[in-house]
Formats: sequence, C-alpha cells, structure tokens
Amino acid sequence: MWENIFQAIDDLYDKMVETRRYLHQHPEVSFEEEQTAKYIADTYEKLGIPYETGIGGNGVIATLKGGKPGKTVALRADFDALPIQEENDVPYRSKNDGVMHACGHDGHTAALLGLAEAVLPYKEEIPGTILFLHQHAEEYAPGGAKPMVEAGAIDGVDAVFGTHLWVDAPFGTIQTSKSAFMAGADRFEITIHGKGGHGAMPHQTKDAIVIGSQLVTSLQQIVSRRVDPLKTAVVTIGTFEAGQTFNVIADSAKITGTVRTFETKVQDSIIEEIEKILKGTCTGYDAAYTLEYHKGYPPVINHAEEAELILKNAPKAEAGLKTEEIAPSMAGEDFSYYLLEKPGAYYFTGARLPDHFYPHHHPKFDFDERAMKHAAKTLFQTFLSYQENHKH
Ligand code: MN
Repeated sequence: MWENIFQAIDDLYDKMVETRRYLHQHPEVSFEEEQTAKYIADTYEKLGIPYETGIGGNGVIATLKGGKPGKTVALRADFDALPIQEENDVPYRSKNDGVMHACGHDGHTAALLGLAEAVLPYKEEIPGTILFLHQHAEEYAPGGAKPMVEAGAIDGVDAVFGTHLWVDAPFGTIQTSKSAFMAGADRFEITIHGKGGHGAMPHQTKDAIVIGSQLVTSLQQIVSRRVDPLKTAVVTIGTFEAGQTFNVIADSAKITGTVRTFETKVQDSIIEEIEKILKGTCTGYDAAYTLEYHKGYPPVINHAEEAELILKNAPKAEAGLKTEEIAPSMAGEDFSYYLLEKPGAYYFTGARLPDHFYPHHHPKFDFDERAMKHAAKTLFQTFLSYQENHKH
C-alpha cells in the first residue's frame, strides 16, 4: 500500500526537479516571498487540496484529511531565499539579481509539493491528517515560524516534523539528534554611561573604561560560575570601544558580544545574569547603562520519542538510506518555535554533490536534487511512524 506512495514519489521526481528549478530561478528574500507563496497556493489549487494563505505573513498551509482515523501531523518546508548573487553557471541559475536560493529552501518546497501530489490519490487510506506547512522567512530573524505559530498554524496539530537538505551530510544519509540539534545564537550591546574628565583628576569622573573592564571580567564568570558545568554555553565579548586619547577619562564604553546556548532555560538564566552583573557593577560605580539584548532563534531541541521514529524508521522509506545520530550543529533554525509548542523533530537529509561542495549560504551553493526524493519519502515515513506509534 505505502509502497505505492513511495513509487509515486519516484515517478514525480522529474516534476519535483522542474518545480525546484523554477523556484531556484525566481527566488525572493525573506518577508517578500509573495510570488513564491502564490506559486505554492496555485499548486494546491490545481491539486484540489484545501489551503489557506497569508498565515502570519506569507505562510501557506494545505490540509489533506485522510479517510482513516488518526493524528494531525504538520510537515514543514520553508521557502525564502537569501540576498546573495548566484555564481553558479547552470541552466536554472537565479534570474533575480542579488537574490539566490543558497540554502536549499527551493528543494524543501519542491519536495513537500511533490509529496502532496503523491499521497493525494491514496487519500482514503491515509490515517489522520497531513498539514503541509509552507513557511516564509526562515533566514531573517524574527523569522516566519513565530508569527505562523501565533496565527494558530499548529493549534490543532499533534506533532510537527521537518527536514533540511544538508550538504554537510553525504547523500543517502539522514541525520538527527534526540535532544539539542541546532544552537540558539543571540547578540547583545552594552553601553556604559559614565562621566568623562581630566586624566589627572579621576575623583571627578566615573571612568567608563574601569567600569567596562570590571564588567568584562565579571561576565566571564557567568559560564564558569553560574551555568551548570554539564550544560553547554558560550558568552563571548567581541568588541570593547571606549576613549579618545591618553589623558582623558572616557565618558562612555560600548561592549558587544554573543551568547550561544542549547537550552532555553540556560539562555534565560544567562540573560538574567548579564542584567544582574550590569546593574550591580554600574550601581557600584554610580554609572548608568543600557543593554540591548537581541534574541536570535531559540535552539532547536528535538523531542526524543519523535526523533527516535526518524532514526529507526527512515530507512524504510528507501532501501540503502542510512540514519545517523549526530552532535548538535551551531547553525540556527526557527523550526525551534514549533518544537516549543508541540512534539516533533527536525532532521538533515544528506544532499552533498560528489564534485561540487560549497557550504550553505555560499554563492556557489548547490545540492544533489535526488535528495528531494529522500526528503519527501522520509517525511511521509515519519508521518506514518507517528500514526503507528499513536494508534489506540
Ligand atoms: Mn536553511
């Protein structure tokens, strides 16, 4: 029975390639993906699968209700491109100057649309409901996932799965982790407002360099003294700018840095510690301060049971497919927002070309298009595994 759907995905491969190449030629940057959203909506219109547009921005969701009872599972594909000038000399090269699908989201979209077409004829046999969740603006924080969740995109959903075509992974492999999978990366800027003055009369000033130095040293102690040694965290100060000349006490200092974490709890506690240290230090010196803390996407934390389904069952989707449990990647992803609300897991679908390796976001990035079949098949297999796992 399900063999027919996997076969249908194989049969639709040429069409998937065509879709991917069309999208690749017509990329749109985050939050400006109107034409891409329309292309997706038009596809569902033609297939006759009910869909909604304009969800939390340019998001599109199509719903395929199966004929058998079961759970509702969202399968997510993002569809935005990057402000990069493509340097590949291929027939399907980007036609939009300065914009490029340099992360593979064109492939995610083509794979999910292909899957929708493949399962449609078998609708009556499908248990539960498949939500085809097409997300805009993954590349640019605050991203599209958050407003889609806020718009109720996954309200009635039992679980969420998604995959990224990944050139760091060899073709034919599926990689995931049972907990932390991708990092949360934040940025902060601190300004210390002291009081400048003559270098020979320090008692009349509030020396921003002395205050800042104290602060930098204290901030190092967050990870060494405040974070559980078995947790992973980084607090790095990247810049410290202050002062004009050798005999003048600096009026202000500007310090910037980054925080990397894999757990929201650790992230929250670090923010709290930064605020406490800043307040304590500046109060001691009677100086004022401002802190701008820019949260990036939260870390992608897979749910163990759902990740296990992928690791165990993905090879059923296609003979020879291998699964690997991997250490977390330092890259970020707004898939995290779905996992904060619902069970689910995110995974990498190996897509490296044998003779053309350029990393994601590179002007020469490209991937092995056959990996789109692996993405579509493993997403469907994961959907089935989840249903099987939740049968009463
Ligand atoms: Mn991406």
